[in-house]
Amino acid sequence: MKAEIISVGTELLLGNTINTDAQFLSQRCADLGIDVYYHTVVGDNIERIKEVTEIAINRSNLIIFTGGLGPTSDDITKEVVSELLNIQLELNQFYLKEIEKYFKNINKQMTENNIKQAYLPKGSIVLKNDVGTAPGAFLSSNGVKVIFLPGPPIELKTMFNRYVVPLLDNEYIIKSKVIKTIGIGESQIDDMLDSLIKIQTNPTIATYAKEGQVDIRITAKGKDEDNIDLLIDELTNKVSKIIGDYIYSYNNESVEEVFYSLLKKKSMKVAFCESCTGGLITSRFTRIPGVSEVFDRGLVTYSNEAKINELGVKEETLKTYGAVSQQTAIEMVEGLFKKSNVDIAISTTGIAGPSSDDKNKPIGLVYIGVADKDKSFAIECHFSGNRESIQKKATNYAFNEGRKFLLR
Ligand code: ATP
Ligand code: MG
Repeated sequence: MKAEIISVGTELLLGNTINTDAQFLSQRCADLGIDVYYHTVVGDNIERIKEVTEIAINRSNLIIFTGGLGPTSDDITKEVVSELLNIQLELNQFYLKEIEKYFKNINKQMTENNIKQAYLPKGSIVLKNDVGTAPGAFLSSNGVKVIFLPGPPIELKTMFNRYVVPLLDNEYIIKSKVIKTIGIGESQIDDMLDSLIKIQTNPTIATYAKEGQVDIRITAKGKDEDNIDLLIDELTNKVSKIIGDYIYSYNNESVEEVFYSLLKKKSMKVAFCESCTGGLITSRFTRIPGVSEVFDRGLVTYSNEAKINELGVKEETLKTYGAVSQQTAIEMVEGLFKKSNVDIAISTTGIAGPSSDDKNKPIGLVYIGVADKDKSFAIECHFSGNRESIQKKATNYAFNEGRKFLLR
């Protein structure tokens, strides 16, 4: 099945509204094994809606329209498309009553133009709107399936999941698994997985790089779910044999979630002291619900004074080696470990750019320190990118150092 999504709305073309409806529908269609070949966005204009609909009819078997089903005069999707398809709109008495009921329930006066919403294409299956007023419609015309869905995302999602999915007789199921890696570049992964990537048909394998991490998505298509799971598991095992050392999650978790789960499992607590990451580690970590069980504190010790006063870093160390150095990262993390009641402490110090420090060290140089009761150390990292990107990468690596430390 070749599907196309036509989003109607001038606000989308003006950039006032992001087309999240198309994103949602594409994702759901992929889950359902329906191939989406085109996204079209068109304004609330009779001629142009006709134009894109004509093109769509000639190239797609399933056309999903979003938006323009409401009561106002610029809501014209149903009207224009039905006219083009030579299908009449007829007043659906049942939906007229439903809309009347809706307004009674919310204690508001129903206006004349609301009746417009109860006019539906003749011969179509009416799609109930459980969270709004405008019903949707599903119809077949000369072998093309046409679906009308309302624009407001909550109405569209509810209607699609409850009433459209059962009407789509999809041939295939598609399932994906996301494997997350850190500490290895995308081209290196491509190279190492070359033999698997070259022969891919089903499942397919694709890599996506972001902020010092690379995700590997394995996608399988078939008619039998158990068989699909088996295909995915087989390929996952092969990938794991080749690059297992860099994989931190087989379930699409973030690196902080994996670190959090490990701390929780071991009943351990962590504290962070951050220089170049400016609190990003703490901020990301505290977004995880339940983190208070494993988290003690996060200090942002940005200046030299803060490093000295809060963490007991020696002035001599800062003078000799600089704030961005292995020695400073270690003294920071040791100082933090001493003053807080935790099982593991993590520090960051680095140069996020755009300018270097007084010692002329390279932008992107970051030290990540780790300490527990037995030992402390700091690793040296070199990140590329702008300030924000370096901060994000350093944060990802800091969580990963914590994760690796707990696994040792
Ligand atoms: P209503 O009954 O609310 O008028 P409608 O079906 O006529 O619904 P529109 O008038 O086109 O839909 O859009 C209503 C609102 O829904 C828009 O202001 C916008 O916030 C949101 N919306 C419309 N289309 C999209 C889209 N493609 N993606 C995300 N949001 C959308
Ligand atoms: Mg509208």
